Amino acid sequence: MRFLLAIHDVWPGNFPLVAGYVEVLRSLGARRIALLAVPSFHGAPLMDANAEFLAWLRAESALGTELFLHGYYHWMGELAEGEGFAARRNPWGRFVNRRLVDREAEFSGLPRAAQARILDDGLAVWRRTGLPLTGFVAPTWHGAPARSRLRDSGIGIFESRFYVRHFASGRTRFVPPLAWNLGTPTGEPSLFGGKAWLGAMLRAPLMKVALHPGDFEGRGTRPALERVFAAGTNIGYAELFGAEAPSALAMPAHAESQTAAARFSNPNPEDPS
Ligand SMILES: [Zn+2]
Repeated sequence: MRFLLAIHDVWPGNFPLVAGYVEVLRSLGARRIALLAVPSFHGAPLMDANAEFLAWLRAESALGTELFLHGYYHWMGELAEGEGFAARRNPWGRFVNRRLVDREAEFSGLPRAAQARILDDGLAVWRRTGLPLTGFVAPTWHGAPARSRLRDSGIGIFESRFYVRHFASGRTRFVPPLAWNLGTPTGEPSLFGGKAWLGAMLRAPLMKVALHPGDFEGRGTRPALERVFAAGTNIGYAELFGAEAPSALAMPAHAESQTAAARFSNPNPEDPS
């Protein structure tokens, strides 16, 4: 079994905690970790304004850690921007946000143009950091910009809940997740799917571990990870596709005409691919 290893929801407000997680993972045998960074977590000041945070990401990147853009607010834009958020979210997107993911699925149920704008805003922040970018993961894995838009924006790898897509080669791999639910009544993180799912993942040829800040508060998290490390080999996202490590994101000044065209395109239903 081979497994990817990612820490989601990384931002300036939690990076000392996440840096501790990275050390724990290395002590367990991690050799390639991915950090999914949020430019303005729940409306917090932009990550590129925090030199200490960027220095840490840069140092991690130099060690081979892969960096991903993970949305923009990791929160409904309606909440972060209030009246300034002009896009209309469809009923599915409202349901997902209200009932399933505590309003964090920022792309879910938005028109393509609004999704593209959020992506562009996130990439603009990322370019200012000068950091390498391995790929993009939408918050909560619900909804995302069009795959073509991601590819045309210079994104190398896109991850959805069950798949990882490499745009340069056109290859997609089935990579089911091992993740913990932090929204339990007791506050104790619990493994999605429980022991049965963990067992299935340990026997799968390829899977991904998706950790969130708070997951190590659970007593069961470390033992589960020890079983994963004992059963499999930790590999990186680029490595999965035999790809080169990414360089700093180029500046493909996004054709304004394309943006304008997208603005009038379809309000999309959830794209399941
Ligand atoms: Zn997230």
